[in-house]
Amino acid sequence: MVFPVFGPATYYSGLVCAAAVRLIASPDARTAHWYVSLAGIAAAVLFVFSLKWLSSHKTARRGVWMGEIGMASAILATLFLPQVHHYGWIMTGFLIGGAIGVPLALFTPMTAVPQQTALSHAFGALAAAMVGVAEFYLHYPHLSQSLMISICFETLLGFLTFTGSLMAFGKLQEILPTRPMNYPFGNVVSLGVLSAAVVTGACLAIWPSHGFLFPIFISLAMLFGILLIIPIGGGDMPTVIALLNSYAGLSASAMGFVINNKLLIVAGALEGSSGFILSMIMCKAMNRSFTNVLFGRMQVQKAAAKDDVYGGKIKSTTPEEVAAMLDGARRVVIVPGYGLAVAQAQHVTGELFELLQDRGAEVEFAIHPVAGRMPGHMNVLLAEADIPYDRLKEMDEINSQFENVDLVIVNGANDVVNPDARDNASSPIAGMPILNVDKARTVVVVKRSLSPGFAGIPNPLFAADNCLMLFSDGKKAVVDIIQALKKE
Ligand code: NDP
Repeated sequence: MVFPVFGPATYYSGLVCAAAVRLIASPDARTAHWYVSLAGIAAAVLFVFSLKWLSSHKTARRGVWMGEIGMASAILATLFLPQVHHYGWIMTGFLIGGAIGVPLALFTPMTAVPQQTALSHAFGALAAAMVGVAEFYLHYPHLSQSLMISICFETLLGFLTFTGSLMAFGKLQEILPTRPMNYPFGNVVSLGVLSAAVVTGACLAIWPSHGFLFPIFISLAMLFGILLIIPIGGGDMPTVIALLNSYAGLSASAMGFVINNKLLIVAGALEGSSGFILSMIMCKAMNRSFTNVLFGRMQVQKAAAKDDVYGGKIKSTTPEEVAAMLDGARRVVIVPGYGLAVAQAQHVTGELFELLQDRGAEVEFAIHPVAGRMPGHMNVLLAEADIPYDRLKEMDEINSQFENVDLVIVNGANDVVNPDARDNASSPIAGMPILNVDKARTVVVVKRSLSPGFAGIPNPLFAADNCLMLFSDGKKAVVDIIQALKKE
């Protein structure tokens, strides 16, 4: 279950190492058991340290390495299990999975990573659920109640995460409408389906021999996964993905009980709890009630018409004018957003940063927790451009300081700087914390048009007295500003 998180490369190397060690060592049953226990404990400890180190940018690389080594140990431990007699089917699975997974990991653009994550969750959860199905039919009709309860947990969470993640993928890829898809009595229908699934599961737990209920139970779980996600708007997708991660982890943990694998129980519980904590942090960042997200409901408010917000109030500017303003600015803040990622403007932004610093300006980057399309998206982009980490300021840190900023350059960000979230209680994103860039002396917004951002609503910032629009591609705009600055 942790395979999608820690990557196919480790999985492959783990398999090869395991096969090699097994061939060379050919241990007896007792020694093999000892190896398995040791590798399992090592993997569990490494996963805990990995999560600990991943929580800070300074130790994140080490965290990734520990996770990778932990995963390799977990695979070794699994392949040494006495139940594994030959590697033919395992190898076939590795080859097919790797042939799909490796190119997907290598060629997916950064902006599409949330969709890829949703797909990983979908297939990871399906794998866990299928193990539950296999165990059910392997032991049917002689299933103990405790085994049946574990199978019910595993398959309920696995199948609802499978269909829910596919829905999240569809929304993020814009195959499905990104707006919330509501219908009358939606909550009642969703809770009704969940209740029916729980009752069916309870019947199965009491009377495990009633096998005809199992396909009904699976269908209800899959239906609930769809109903859970379709009413959720695109703006809530980060939270939903973290939550689905949590469900997939819990399903894996239940699988550990089903197949009596302690390492799976630990790894699944770690994934489940970290996903849950992340989803709560995301809820806070977007000011969304956790219960609302959990039950897939969002307060749908009608956005103001574009013409009412922008009509006759938009002032555009040129790279030369921006360069002139930058020339006199002492304190500059750059706000990166999704458009900067699309334009791949991080390296030229790094160049602009150096240039301005050399000219004596103080330059900082204001980072909104959900800027871009995944948590940490902007941090990763700016790290690619070697921008010193201490120049990146979190929203809470920088928000009180915008009044002292001479010039803010917003590059490809929209929703995360929309003052309606703060000032207009009837806005669809009301209450979502934003970067208060409108408080700065002057704001320049770089984007190609007046098109809306992910939330699909107009942004009154663009019509504000202190705001100038530089209509351009995010990378071209920065290149043009640099050229104009060098000419000054
Ligand atoms: P937005 O989606 O609000 O806006 C992005 C802007 O970038 C658009 O208005 C677009 O305008 C502009 N843009 C697109 N391409 C280019 C380009 N090549 N050059 C310049 N500009 C470009 O982005 P934000 O980062 O402000 O906000 C993120 C949104 O995504 C939030 O609503 C958040 O809830 C949501 N979200 C966040 C996730 C996360 O975890 N970070 C995950 C999923 C959703 P134009 O077309 O006119 O150029």
